Amino acid sequence: MLDVQKIRKDFPILNRTVNGKPLIYFDNAATSQTPQQVIDVIVDYYSNYNANIHRGVHSLSQEATDAYEQARIKIQKHFNAKHSYEIIYTAGTTHSINLVANGFSSLLKKGDEIIVSALEHHSNIVPWQMLCERTGASLKVIPMNENGELILSDYDALLNEHTKLVFVNHISNALGTINPIESIIEKAHAVGAAVLIDGAQSCPHLKPDVQALDVDFYVCSAHKICGPTGVGMLYGKEEWLNKLPPYQGGGEMIAEVSFEKTTYAGLPHKFEAGTPNICGGIAFGAALDYMNNIGFENIAKYENELLDYGTEQLLKIEGLKIYGTAKEKTSVISFNVGTIHPYDIGTILDKMGIAVRTGHHCAQPIMDFYKIPGTIRASFMFYNTKEEIDTFIVALKKAIMMLS
Ligand SMILES: *Cc1c(COP(=O)(O)O)cnc(C)c1O
Repeated sequence: MLDVQKIRKDFPILNRTVNGKPLIYFDNAATSQTPQQVIDVIVDYYSNYNANIHRGVHSLSQEATDAYEQARIKIQKHFNAKHSYEIIYTAGTTHSINLVANGFSSLLKKGDEIIVSALEHHSNIVPWQMLCERTGASLKVIPMNENGELILSDYDALLNEHTKLVFVNHISNALGTINPIESIIEKAHAVGAAVLIDGAQSCPHLKPDVQALDVDFYVCSAHKICGPTGVGMLYGKEEWLNKLPPYQGGGEMIAEVSFEKTTYAGLPHKFEAGTPNICGGIAFGAALDYMNNIGFENIAKYENELLDYGTEQLLKIEGLKIYGTAKEKTSVISFNVGTIHPYDIGTILDKMGIAVRTGHHCAQPIMDFYKIPGTIRASFMFYNTKEEIDTFIVALKKAIMMLS
């Protein structure tokens, strides 16, 4: 079992107050907090071995290179990738998706079809729309139902010999729905299409096995898994990464350069132009260590308890409607209260030290589906508690009284 009080001591930020009240941080789906163990790794890097990697003969550069490459292996092991060079460091989920979408420019033509879902973050919509503009391929959408689940029979009908690529998130950031990606991947492969899974929201809560999933691309951001911002990863099957052209040109990604011809480096360096976020990559590895020490089974079990408890308490409030009631969901609760604007509730909660998200959560198509401008979103991580949920409910009731 998970010892929450002990775990909370790892997170210095949880000790602070906001507007005179102890911080209650329920905006984890936007970014997670960072434990001391990861902060220490960042401080150690800049205090002791900050240097550029892969090119220096001096000791600092060797140390930094070793730590950065060891972190890549940690990430490889965590996701069970076959080879460490199938892990590409990126600036995060958005960057990873753009890298793949850009690469597919040379692989798609007019008449080709690519499939997205109605449940996506703008990061997993816009780069593909841009790809369609460049190539003349068309974008199809798997629709969702009232519970916030994808309608898989409609997905079946969209798949055909023109389908080249399918991209859906593993878990929706706006509603918490866990999508049945195993069957989505299997069906796409049956028509010869590749699949990219946006794991930004799943990696904080579960441990994906990319080989068992047989997924072609899997992407995530470190900052949602207790790591720093500005770093993430792209997993790609070797055969796919070899098919994609480089994304950016520059140092690190070349084998040889002359004015007549440049040849590119092999994987993973082909996709890693320029000096990367070295410290970020090392801290990403440390964040995975931290989470694995707690254990993803313990995390999932505890977060499900928080989800059930939070849902139950919220539903006792008159006029409160939860959006996203999928059977399979994670610890994200999106809701509205009557006709009160989410922003007004969010502002009052902040006055009471409670951080929630309000708005469309970078998923406007979902809000359009429900015909609402946005929701209030409370998202829990393993360091949150039932007591915090109780305080949140009392504060929410106060806010509702003030606003109605
Ligand atoms: C947060 C998030 C993104 C974007 O991640 P960045 O770190 O901002 O690049 C994409 N998809 C989902 C599902 C997310 O939750």
